[in-house]
Amino acid sequence: MILTKLPRFHLSLASSHFNFINPNRPVQLARTLFSLAPKSNLATVEPISDSSTLEDAPVEIPLDKLFIPPETDISGEDSSTLAARILKGSNIVLSKYARDAQVVQADYVKSSVRTEDCPGDGLPEFALVGRSNVGKSSLLNSLVKRKRLALTSKKPGKTQCINHFRINDNWYLVDLPGYGFASAPHELKLDWNKFTKDYFLNRSTLVSVFLLIDASLPPKQIDLDYANWLGQNQVPMTMVFTKCDKRKKKKNGGKRPEENIKEFQDLIQGFFETTPPWIMTSSVTNQGRDEILLHMAQLRNYWLKH
Ligand code: GDP
Repeated sequence: MILTKLPRFHLSLASSHFNFINPNRPVQLARTLFSLAPKSNLATVEPISDSSTLEDAPVEIPLDKLFIPPETDISGEDSSTLAARILKGSNIVLSKYARDAQVVQADYVKSSVRTEDCPGDGLPEFALVGRSNVGKSSLLNSLVKRKRLALTSKKPGKTQCINHFRINDNWYLVDLPGYGFASAPHELKLDWNKFTKDYFLNRSTLVSVFLLIDASLPPKQIDLDYANWLGQNQVPMTMVFTKCDKRKKKKNGGKRPEENIKEFQDLIQGFFETTPPWIMTSSVTNQGRDEILLHMAQLRNYWLKH
């Protein structure tokens, strides 16, 4: 499968759906509206910690800012049934492919220094990437429910590798080098770019990049550049906003995670023909954990079928 197949398919579907629905009418994403749908598919996962005070604030998303997966028809939905199909704390609509999301097994497989050296068994994979300190290791550990799995890719010699973890023996989570170390020499930063760019452009089994962005901070230029590059190269991308438990703090400009997220999206709008999927997470409260797994499941199951 070529990298660009999924987003192109998504573009045409999305525009046809919006002929039926008023795109200016916002969907009210109240917490209770869609708590059942995602959990029913993840029967054996740990319950999400109760972080109601942090997550209660409803987020309004206009219809033209939703991510509607391929082969998903929302034309017959009214706003309450549609809201029930949207993953909590995200703009992601659930499709019929959202199943088999739970993680029962996770194994470190290998660390590669070139795309050609990555596993060749053809299983679909998702790459996690983000600025160093964004919370990538914490998220990886939380997704697989193993406190120390991601330590493997923090061992000396592996921090600049493509680290593959096989999940349930049928797909991969891939930990890519963090970027933007303040102390790294310029040449090293460029090397990382070349290295990860080659992987993004040539890894045929890459279903989607998950770009991690710290929601407790105002948008950073390096993250905007990264998102821009992925958009311009039509590499499928999901934005994962981390540290959404961190409430703010006048000294940082007084912005809440929701405000930083909105600002980030406004700034990248021009890079994409349609809004990419995004999701709010916290490795402290486990917010977004089950939802990311469901989103990965629907992308993966669609990819496997096509
Ligand atoms: P990495 O460098 O991207 O792998 O980031 P780590 O997972 O090592 O996390 C960097 C720092 O951010 C650590 O001090 C973590 O405890 C903290 N951190 C990670 N995720 C979260 C989160 O969801 N919420 C909060 N409040 N802190 C987090």
